[in-house]
Amino acid sequence: MAESRIDAKTKVFGLLGNPVGHSMSPFMHNIFLEQCGINGAYMAFAVEKENIGAAVRGMHALGIQGANVTIPHKEAVIPYLCGMSKAAQACGAVNTLIYTPEGYYGDNTDGAGLLAALEAKNGWKAEGQNILILGAGGAAKGVSVAMALQGAAKIGIANRTAEKAELLAKQIAELSDTRTDVISMQELQKPEVYQEYSTIVNTTSLGMAPKVDDMVPVCIDALQPHHLVVDLIYNPLETKLLRLAREQGAQTASGLGMFIYQGVLAFEKWNGVRPDTASIEEQLIQRLTR
Ligand code: NAP
Repeated sequence: MAESRIDAKTKVFGLLGNPVGHSMSPFMHNIFLEQCGINGAYMAFAVEKENIGAAVRGMHALGIQGANVTIPHKEAVIPYLCGMSKAAQACGAVNTLIYTPEGYYGDNTDGAGLLAALEAKNGWKAEGQNILILGAGGAAKGVSVAMALQGAAKIGIANRTAEKAELLAKQIAELSDTRTDVISMQELQKPEVYQEYSTIVNTTSLGMAPKVDDMVPVCIDALQPHHLVVDLIYNPLETKLLRLAREQGAQTASGLGMFIYQGVLAFEKWNGVRPDTASIEEQLIQRLTR
């Protein structure tokens, strides 16, 4: 029998969410831990909404060194933290808990993760860009705040619930010089809307497995080779939106890069070392497509 890596000195890391059974975070972080020679283990914890405070306090009492937080707890953990980064404060959501003796410090690496992935893989920076964000939920907030703070020229927001798009546009305008616009779902079907934008980012859950035929009503015919279409979804690796955009000749980027980099940034905050991103993408693709 192979010797277990786990012993009495193993540091524990984890994911708080519900459900968590589909998450690729344990797979990725355990590879990172091994790669960096850290005696650690990363586990997934399904936590009911009413137990989130008890879970955070219990984790701290046990000395768990760090955790990621996912749906539906990204906002609910906030009252149980000892402090928060500017990124987490700006988007009102936490995806990373960092152990301190006083309690967990909350951070949010989602927006920075997407920016790092787009820069590494597409040579893309938000500075000076006109960006159309589809959706106005938690991920939209993290991503659009990070893009505004990196100097985006304009951010347009289209969301099913228009009030949420308006609120997000107001928040962006309050913390940056980025111009904002709110676009209705009807306007989204007009080709002329796309002339103004270089980058289109789907932050809605439309198209995520198992409902892979769903799609935000984007006017695909209006897309051109200079457009970069990004989907935060990474399961499937190529959503219907990305497939149609690619067939139309636009550039595309899946959510896998964001997933990798939000994890890399969290791992670095816990362990002080940056894991290697070269081989993890291929390993995740193999795991997701097997
Ligand atoms: P969320 O807060 O629940 O927001 C969901 C968004 O999708 C809202 O804008 C919602 O519109 C929209 N939406 C949902 N169903 C819709 C429908 N039937 N028609 C039109 N719009 C619909 O979720 P989230 O945390 O932002 O996550 C959104 C997506 O991002 C998920 O697919 C998640 O997996 C992905 N994500 C990926 C990463 C990564 O690392 N790659 C990280 C974070 C999130 P309303 O406001 O009108 O309800």
